Amino acid sequence: MRLFLVAFLCVSLAAITAFSREIPMVSTTTDEQTLPWMKDSAEKMKKELIAKHGEGARARLERGLRQVGQFWRAEDGEAAVFEDFVRVNFAGDQVTLDTMFNRFENLLEKLSGHLHEINREFRQQSDLDKGPILSFDEVFAGYDPGAHVLDDFFHNKLAFVVLLNFPLTTLEERITEGPQWSRRQWAEGRLAQGFSKRVPAEVNLELARAASESDAYIAQYNIWMYHLIDPGGQRLFPPKLRLLSHWNLRDEIKADYADKERGLAKQRSLQQVMERIITQTIPQVVVNNPAVDWNPWTNEVKIATEHDSDSGNTQYGNLTNAPEPATRYAMLLKTYQAARKVDPYSPTAPTLMARRFDEDREVPEQRVKAMLEQVVTSPLVPKVAKLIETRLGRPLEPFDIWYDGFRARGAYTEAQLDAIVSKKYPTAEAYRQDIPDILMKLGFTPEKANYLAGMIVVDPARGSGHAMGAEMRGEKAHLRTRVEAMGMNYKGFNIAVHEMGHNVEQTFSLNEVDHTLLEGVPNTAFTEALAMVLQGHDLEVLGLSAPDARSEALRTLNDFWNTYEISGVALVDMAVWHWMYDHPKAKPEELRDATVSIAKDIWNRYYAPEFGKRDVLLLAIYSHMIDSFLYLPDYPIGHLIAFQVEEKMKQAGAIGPEFERMAKMGRVTPDMWMINATGKPVGAESLLAAAEKAYAQVSPQK
Ligand SMILES: [Zn+2]
Repeated sequence: MRLFLVAFLCVSLAAITAFSREIPMVSTTTDEQTLPWMKDSAEKMKKELIAKHGEGARARLERGLRQVGQFWRAEDGEAAVFEDFVRVNFAGDQVTLDTMFNRFENLLEKLSGHLHEINREFRQQSDLDKGPILSFDEVFAGYDPGAHVLDDFFHNKLAFVVLLNFPLTTLEERITEGPQWSRRQWAEGRLAQGFSKRVPAEVNLELARAASESDAYIAQYNIWMYHLIDPGGQRLFPPKLRLLSHWNLRDEIKADYADKERGLAKQRSLQQVMERIITQTIPQVVVNNPAVDWNPWTNEVKIATEHDSDSGNTQYGNLTNAPEPATRYAMLLKTYQAARKVDPYSPTAPTLMARRFDEDREVPEQRVKAMLEQVVTSPLVPKVAKLIETRLGRPLEPFDIWYDGFRARGAYTEAQLDAIVSKKYPTAEAYRQDIPDILMKLGFTPEKANYLAGMIVVDPARGSGHAMGAEMRGEKAHLRTRVEAMGMNYKGFNIAVHEMGHNVEQTFSLNEVDHTLLEGVPNTAFTEALAMVLQGHDLEVLGLSAPDARSEALRTLNDFWNTYEISGVALVDMAVWHWMYDHPKAKPEELRDATVSIAKDIWNRYYAPEFGKRDVLLLAIYSHMIDSFLYLPDYPIGHLIAFQVEEKMKQAGAIGPEFERMAKMGRVTPDMWMINATGKPVGAESLLAAAEKAYAQVSPQK
């Protein structure tokens, strides 16, 4: 799912940047790797070039020499080659520097745009609804023409030209000095950032291997639910139900609120299963195995007495309930060990934490932590917890962190909406023709609406739909939407409006931004927030009435409770990565024990008071924690950003002009973007204030 987002949504400035940014990384300084002659050669070139260009060039030259020195390896050439390179490629005057900057900006846009075009064409058969996918189509789809660009650019030394002339920056500099930078300075910074790492192929390979091994481990971690035996000896779940941890297990807990008869018993069993997975006391034999029955309370296993799997059950001659040998944590450790090897090659972000927070998110870890803590310690938590208890008619249990009951019944049934939509949009072409009209209903001027419609190609999607932006000016964005034989249904329409929101953002942030090196938005959460704004108005686009205030309030409380839950999950993920960095030689069993104690600690601090139970482990169940390199904080940050943008849009008279103003800011830091958009840096206040209001609206009515 994440790769999907990256491939389809990430509006990265250049393929090379996307390439280097996508690899999760970690580090130390590269000083000790510097070649023995480097210092003398750099000193010599400094003297020579200052004599030639004057004292004014000193600061820039010193910086350039330092930056090149950090990445130059023996294979790039000896001292004479280095000196000659610097002599020829240092832009000693402003005119040369401007020419260099403009040419790099233009050519990198072309490179990125055309690579993207190849990529899009190669994926056509697998992405679009165009008949059977043959074996070679998948190879085309999997081919990445940009995979070696970064290596090539170090090899032919274009990367060194950039490093010699443009500044590498740290997040701290971007935050503290960035607001005073000119747009050109920002663009120069982004240009250099594209070359801020030079990770050897074998290190990348190891990283990819650890990622794919942990992915594979997660992808087959199913529990066969019919074979769960509850304390009363009952089978609570239907035959053939196979749930993937953690997604399906969690979604089953959510769905079980609707089962008035056995829902609660099922939810308790699911919690028991999750905790067995986290502690790795789960019997190895029950993982993805319909051949045994398992009582997760006593941990007893037996040969299955009933058979529900088509694949045929395996018999176990020597059946034991021996626990899974901490494999979950062995997988996580491998990703850590692989990530750590990148550290020395990433001088401006020398740990995985730094790469995630300082580079991918561009919000310092300490600030993210503070925002998440602001959510979990909000005085609203106990109030909403009480409200949920009232709605459930029982005391909260730990799995109620996944409470799913803040749902409003809309004014129209799904069937009514389907009928309206399929009549209006019998084909994808009908939707395409209506785009200018839809955009005008959303407040874009007729002129902008027509311009945008002309920049969006509508394709029939094989899956549910996605948006694929362009990477080069003048190229069109692609809206992939699914239309059934009966015409578009409401779900498809709702998704199409969301994806069109991405396309509109992509079009503005590429074509109207002043520098293509600043193309895009600060991170994925921002494009999602903008897309959700349009999606949230889909009923009005159909000419129907918008959701009423109470439905809106329920939706806000639902978002608040989700953010409360996922904030704790993210805090666990962050603490676990720090623990691994602090214990580089840890064994899987030690990591298991540490994770359990971290999860308990965060639960006891922020959740136990509302749930009346201590030492719960559920916050450590997410599979992303095992295979996704500190990805989980993206979720709560995404909620907060979406709320901030939505709240601002609500205050605006018309969405169109505000949307455009926000989207063309480009890829600066999240705080700068948000200050331009809403007047305030990224923070939790919008969500908390909206939730407070929603609570006041919903609580008296129970
Ligand atoms: Zn989206």
